[in-house]
Amino acid sequence: MSADRLSVALLGATGSIGASTLDVVVRHPGRYGVFALCAHSSAPALLDLCHRHRPRYAVLSGLAEDADLRRTFAERAGSELLFGSRALEQIAAHPDCDTVMAAIVGAAGLASALAAARAGKRVLLANKEALVLAGAPFMRAVREAGATLLPIDSEHNAVFQCLPQGDRGSAVRRVVLTASGGPFRAAPLARLEQVTPDEACAHPNWVMGRKISVDSATMMNKGLEVIEARWLFDLPPERIDVLIHPQSIVHSLVEYVDGSVLAQLSNPDMRVPIAHALAYPGRIESGARPLDLGAIGQLAFERPDLERFPCLQLAYEALRAGGSSPAILNAANEVAVEAFLSGRLRFTAIARLIAETLQQVPSGDADSLEAVLEADARARRAAAALAARLQGKAA
Ligand code: NAD
Ligand code: MG
Repeated sequence: MSADRLSVALLGATGSIGASTLDVVVRHPGRYGVFALCAHSSAPALLDLCHRHRPRYAVLSGLAEDADLRRTFAERAGSELLFGSRALEQIAAHPDCDTVMAAIVGAAGLASALAAARAGKRVLLANKEALVLAGAPFMRAVREAGATLLPIDSEHNAVFQCLPQGDRGSAVRRVVLTASGGPFRAAPLARLEQVTPDEACAHPNWVMGRKISVDSATMMNKGLEVIEARWLFDLPPERIDVLIHPQSIVHSLVEYVDGSVLAQLSNPDMRVPIAHALAYPGRIESGARPLDLGAIGQLAFERPDLERFPCLQLAYEALRAGGSSPAILNAANEVAVEAFLSGRLRFTAIARLIAETLQQVPSGDADSLEAVLEADARARRAAAALAARLQGKAA
């Protein structure tokens, strides 16, 4: 890889953020080289990507050593294939890699994102769950190692763009995260009992992985983002607000003490924040369609309805409770969403399961990685038992 190109490791390469990242990277072959592509278990999809992008390394973190696969990747893509989740951490901390796109979904993405932070990399963070689970140790690692943390979540990337760099917001009154409200923003409440996984994943503005799509439908996604904002921008919960904006054009706002409000706007296309973070502090083309406000005409906003979206309230409560409550919330949500997606839990039982898990599992210290992983494991066990009980009730 030539010395003047940034070498990018892509954790979660076969996902939605992975595809958008590769789309931006290949538009700028002189600036970025693909150092590694990592996926969980889908070997054919990863091989196809490696064949096209020729990374030095490929990782299948969910598979055990397989000599035949290793040979196939070497012959067809010239990539050295590694196996197991420790390989993700090795790649994230590899001395020849400059930039790590952390785009694994869920708590499974924490260890490798943290390894990148500890190695002082430029960390492009899509995996919001890492900060929800381990905000304090993660931010400490970023500070201590001098890593550069750039948010990929469109709302946080928008806030980042609206904050003066250097002075991280002493004159900020509050940030306002916008939310589309998902596919059920206006659906009759009684209908929510019956919604199917495919309906929940049919987001009106964004095409995303299934877990974040369900999170958007319950608005837990916005709850996780409130917690993410707390750590990224060092703000207390009362200075982080949520506003429904169905068109997803205004990606978030920052209000200053003098009454000025700055916002970042674009068409809803994840290539915009990805290109911003890849090139920061410069700018590069992302491939996104230019925004035509004249054609859009009007932008709409409304306050979120917490009866419709109890998950948002639960996330604020977990953030205020502090300690490992956000980790417990996140683990319960992952268990609930998985149960919903596999047809074992009703959509409306997702919030119930999370609330009951938070009641059952005591919150504790969340200052070390070990402590949050412990809380995560305990919450998963409690949530799985509750899911089995709630499934019995629904039948
Ligand atoms: P996705 O489901 O499309 O892709 C997930 C990727 O993670 C895949 O490459 C998969 O192989 C990998 N993966 C899954 N489980 C894994 C495991 N246990 N170990 C290692 N790798 C694993 O998800 P996505 O929509 O691309 O979202 C990725 C992350 O980015 C999530 O944290 C999500 O909240 C965040 N995010 C996504 C979007 C979006 O538009 N898709 C927007 C903002 C933030
Ligand atoms: Mg977002």
